[in-house]
Amino acid sequence: MSEASSLVRLQEVDLQLIRLRKTLSAMPQQEKLRAIALAKKKLAGQLKQIVGQRKDVEMELDDNETEHQKIVDQTAEVRARVTERVQGYRQIQDLEAQLTSLAKRQEKLEFTHVDIASRLERLQKAERNARDLGEKLLEEEKSQTESFEQNSSDLQARVRVLEQERAALVNSLPEEVVATYDASVRRFGGLAVETLSSNVPSVCRVKLQPAIFQKLQKGARITECPYCHRMLVVMEVGQQ
Ligand SMILES: [Zn+2]
Repeated sequence: MSEASSLVRLQEVDLQLIRLRKTLSAMPQQEKLRAIALAKKKLAGQLKQIVGQRKDVEMELDDNETEHQKIVDQTAEVRARVTERVQGYRQIQDLEAQLTSLAKRQEKLEFTHVDIASRLERLQKAERNARDLGEKLLEEEKSQTESFEQNSSDLQARVRVLEQERAALVNSLPEEVVATYDASVRRFGGLAVETLSSNVPSVCRVKLQPAIFQKLQKGARITECPYCHRMLVVMEVGQQ
C-alpha cells in the first residue's frame, strides 16, 4: 500500500473509531456509569467533611469528660477536707463555697455533654448513611459495567480490530506524515484528510484553479489543500 493510500485508510479507520466510540459512550450503561462516577465524587467530598466533623466532636466529648473527671476528683478532695473537722468556721464556709462552685461547673459540663453526645450521634448516623450509599454505588457500578461488557462485546471487538489496523498503518507511515496528520485531526476535529480525484477536494469542495491543480498533480502525492489546509491526497488516475 502506498503512503497516500495508507493515509487515506488511516483517516477512514479513525472516523470509524470515532463513530464506534460515540456509539459505545451513548449506551445507557455508560450514561449511568458517568452519573455513578459523579455521585461517588460528591459523596467522597461529603464523607470527608462528615468524618472531619465527627473527629472534632469526639475530641470535644473527650475534653468534656476529662474536665468532668477533674471536677469530680476536686469535689472529693474538698469534701474530705470538710470532714477533717480541724477546720475553723471561715475555712468551712470557704470550702462550702468551693463545693457550690464545683457543683455548678459540673452541672454545666453535664449539660454540655448531652449536647455534644447528641451531635456526635447525628454525625455517626450521617457517616453510616454515607458509607451505605457508597457501597450501593459500588454495587451499581459493578452491575452496570457487567451489563455494558455483555451488550457491547461486538462493538468492542470491532474497535480492537480497527485499533490493530491503525497501529499497523501508523507504523508504515513516515513519522512526519503521522505528526502532520495528528495535528490536523486536532485542528479539524477528526476530518483531517481530503482526497483529490478530479479538481475538487473531497471535504472543502472548493474547485482548484487549473494552475494549482496542475502543480499538485506533478508534486508530492500528500500535500496540503490551499483552501482549507487539510492534508490533501492526490490520487493517481484510476485509484480512489
Ligand atoms: Zn480543502
